[in-house]
Amino acid sequence: MPETITEIREIPAIKTDSEILHFITTEDPHEAEGLFAAARKVRSEHYRNEVYFRGLVEFTNYCKNDCYYCGLRRSNAGVGRYRLSLDEILRSCQIGDTLGFKTFVLQGGEDPYFPDDRVVEILRAIRGAYPDHAITLSIGERPRESYEAFFKAGANRYLLRHESACEEHYAMMHPASMSLAARKGCLYTLNSIGYQVGAGFMVGTPFQKPEHLLEDLRFLRDLQPHMIGIGPFIPQADTPFRNYPAGALEQTLRMVALARLLLPKALIPATTALGTISPVGRERGLMAGANVVMPNLSPKEVRKLYALYDNKICTGDEAAECRYCMEGRIRNFGFVPNMGRGDAAGWTASGLSS
Ligand code: SAH
Ligand code: SF4
Repeated sequence: MPETITEIREIPAIKTDSEILHFITTEDPHEAEGLFAAARKVRSEHYRNEVYFRGLVEFTNYCKNDCYYCGLRRSNAGVGRYRLSLDEILRSCQIGDTLGFKTFVLQGGEDPYFPDDRVVEILRAIRGAYPDHAITLSIGERPRESYEAFFKAGANRYLLRHESACEEHYAMMHPASMSLAARKGCLYTLNSIGYQVGAGFMVGTPFQKPEHLLEDLRFLRDLQPHMIGIGPFIPQADTPFRNYPAGALEQTLRMVALARLLLPKALIPATTALGTISPVGRERGLMAGANVVMPNLSPKEVRKLYALYDNKICTGDEAAECRYCMEGRIRNFGFVPNMGRGDAAGWTASGLSS
């Protein structure tokens, strides 16, 4: 390994790569709890016990890519495809606004039906109706010009998980048409434009080794993203990875905690995938250092179709049910909802004017 991650000082025993690897792999519950406690402490220094709410609109499940792990991959003929119209997207945002959300996250597959001008039209419409809300995009890889156009049209943030920071491992999860270099390039581009950027990865993907997870942490340290999405891999029955086991809850939680210790100010969601592998997965994510939840605002009729993985939770609920269910859950664990925009601590707008 070329260098050592030295930024993690909160726990004296986590300074070197081998110490980090130890925490990536330890099965000792006492050690893990020490890690989680340290992560909670660091989180509370920047964000107290508040949890930010983001309203998620999954607006298309068409995708031109063929990631081996994902149920939306183009080769999956078993999923009914849908796209939301501009009106349906705006209606979802309106419901979200009524419920108090100040951030909308527009996520979808890489869908050629939405070229830049369509995305710009959507962004302008949302921005026009909600001048003070944050708009987060998560629609995959595009050229710099596209990202710039989206930024100018009102997008503030962009989620693009790097998936694996190791070339070899990345190539085992994606067809040759996709590359880690391109993915990383997009992330650095987004950063330079002035977006608040989210990277991240799945835990427990096929062929993943502890060293890959260390490499993921290294990459995060280098990129310094504002947001970090970490969730367990969960097999989807119609994908090439259907027979691989899901990522482990405990290891996912340890990765959340390590990410928190490494990037203390990051906004880290307790992901839906965590909630899918355990009934209290999201709550435990918060107890391991996460500080964001993303209740779903998509119309109930399409929820089941956004099937990244099997048994996804919250597919039968209305937006309001998700919003209040999450509030109850986090309060039970001593957290308080924050419905504000929730920009990353210390973040000030820069880059292109919007
Ligand atoms: N198309 C966009 C956004 C939608 S996919 C993109 O790929 O960036 C959003 C995330 O879902 C992906 O980044 C991936 O990490 C996650 N995901 C996909 N398939 C999954 C699976 N089987 N288990 C867990 N997470 C999965
Ligand atoms: Fe498409 Fe994203 Fe799924 Fe890959 S992970 S197939 S890019 S929706």
